[in-house]
Amino acid sequence: MREKMVEVQIAGRGIRDLKVLEALRGVPRDAFVPEDLKGLAYADEPLPIGHGQTISQPYIVAYMTEVLELKGGESVLEIGTGSGYQTAVLARIVKEVWTVETVAALSEGAQALLNGLGFTNIRFKIGDGTFGWTEFAPFDAIMVTAAPGIIPKALKDQLRVGGRMIVPVGIEDQQLVLIRRDETSFLETRLLPVRFVPLISVH
Ligand code: SAH
Repeated sequence: MREKMVEVQIAGRGIRDLKVLEALRGVPRDAFVPEDLKGLAYADEPLPIGHGQTISQPYIVAYMTEVLELKGGESVLEIGTGSGYQTAVLARIVKEVWTVETVAALSEGAQALLNGLGFTNIRFKIGDGTFGWTEFAPFDAIMVTAAPGIIPKALKDQLRVGGRMIVPVGIEDQQLVLIRRDETSFLETRLLPVRFVPLISVH
């Protein structure tokens, strides 16, 4: 089912990066969805994971990973650990993943699951990802999987020059925005309309 998902929903819709396709082939999505929804683990849709949150649609996971143009040696910051599925996909491609989640139970669940699957290159933090993870910045790439109204300044500041960030932006109408940082500026490209849960900031 996983092979078929990659062939039909991912490669079939234009994702070409072999590292991304390999990563999706390698991560058992069924391990990241609740017991009663296992039968839908390879369906073309997001699914509820409790605490009012969702595991993203596989295609969106692949798309957001591909636009970061990862080569393998990167250090990546992820905001919104959730189920940990996207974290696993990133961790199969890059050197290290730093992931921040506000809901303690989700972070702890993802941590147990990913450790159990044998990942050793992921570091977890429970807290507000709006502020990134200063101690380990700058990052080669940043992926945000919950939608802020505007792009948090702290995250832009923590992006390395030459780095890329992908983030869904907006309250009602959301757009996936790709940001590329060069020596002097941040270049923003709107990619496609999406629907993510909001990035909750306690401040
Ligand atoms: N990548 C995850 C998506 C989970 S949904 C997956 O595929 O499973 C988005 C996640 O962002 C939720 O778990 C939510 O609790 C978390 N979140 C919301 N606001 C946040 C914030 N300010 N900082 C960190 N995580 C946040």
